[in-house]
Amino acid sequence: MPGKQTTTKKRPHSTNPYLRNRLMKPIQEIFPLLTQPRKVVITTHQKPDADAMGSSLALRHFLKQFGHDVTVISPTNWAGWVNWMPGVKEVMDFEMHRKAADVLLDSAEWVFCLDFNIFHRTKTMTEKLKQLKCTKILIDHHQEPDTASFDYGISDTSKSSTCEMVYDFMIGSGHADKINEEIAECLYAGLVGDTGSFRFASAHAGVHSIVADLKSKGLKHSVVHENLFDNYLENRLRFVGHVLLHRMDVFYEYNTALIAIPKNDLLKFDIKTGDTEGLVNYPQSIRGIKLVALVIDRDEERKWSFRSKGDFDCNSFARKHFDGGGHYNASGGRSSDPLEKTVQKFKEVLREYEAQLQ
Ligand code: 5GP
Ligand code: MN
Repeated sequence: MPGKQTTTKKRPHSTNPYLRNRLMKPIQEIFPLLTQPRKVVITTHQKPDADAMGSSLALRHFLKQFGHDVTVISPTNWAGWVNWMPGVKEVMDFEMHRKAADVLLDSAEWVFCLDFNIFHRTKTMTEKLKQLKCTKILIDHHQEPDTASFDYGISDTSKSSTCEMVYDFMIGSGHADKINEEIAECLYAGLVGDTGSFRFASAHAGVHSIVADLKSKGLKHSVVHENLFDNYLENRLRFVGHVLLHRMDVFYEYNTALIAIPKNDLLKFDIKTGDTEGLVNYPQSIRGIKLVALVIDRDEERKWSFRSKGDFDCNSFARKHFDGGGHYNASGGRSSDPLEKTVQKFKEVLREYEAQLQ
């Protein structure tokens, strides 16, 4: 999704992804097993974004070419702006088709878990995933993965996106020839989403090389951009205008902007899953802003998003104060408090960070 950044600043983890993952077998050990058809489920985090859905569908298109029986199960519904992706019509919504999803998960031999670091990021699917005895494989770029829950995998926070990692998986397996136009479209969507259209530091040279390779396989990149970003209804744009005018506070002493969206706004503008995507990025365009916080009054909880520039650690901030986590420059969290109370808490907590936000 648009809005993720990474920084080149030193991270708390080892830079060698294999050292960090000693509890999981390296992903490379899967490669020789690929040619033997299996029942496979691919899943990802709740409310999948372009990287989550793109990486899941790209891997599905790849594995099907080996004769595997592959289903993508999303823990929840998803934004309309991923509905153009090839194969999305066959994605199963776990919450909508609980029984059929249980049958598929119970008979799966492999479950790939993409773009999340811990089972509870799959919301109502969490308990089901914990119970499964089959082989679980992680491909992810979030901090502090729960590696003990996976048999094989790779977790690498230096990667721009899970789509980059799925591309590496395809190349590493020795089956680059299987990367076709539909895979290229899905992978490109995730690269665009998680690098903020190639603007964040995470868009390293390798990312651009991947794009060049995908172009050579027939990728029409401008079509993907239009599908992702020019696909909203009028009400969404009017909602953005309303929110920026009436729901944003800027605290210049903390170089911080805060957007708090009450439930009534969501109802008034008929806001659907995915319509709030990218909202957190707007205040970043104000000169000097270092931290942006967005909180939305969802039915079940107050959902926080945090974005920073430079050396403010959003992952630790969300983890410590808002029951969340994510990346260094982009994280999320939650609260069961009412909107005003969680906003008040944010304002109080902010005082502790005054020095870091200068
Ligand atoms: P977003 O603000 O777009 O929802 O999320 C930003 C980043 O933080 C994403 O990489 C997302 O996976 C991660 N994230 C969002 N919410 C949570 C959360 O509640 N817990 C954790 N661990 N990560 C989150
Ligand atoms: Mn991602």
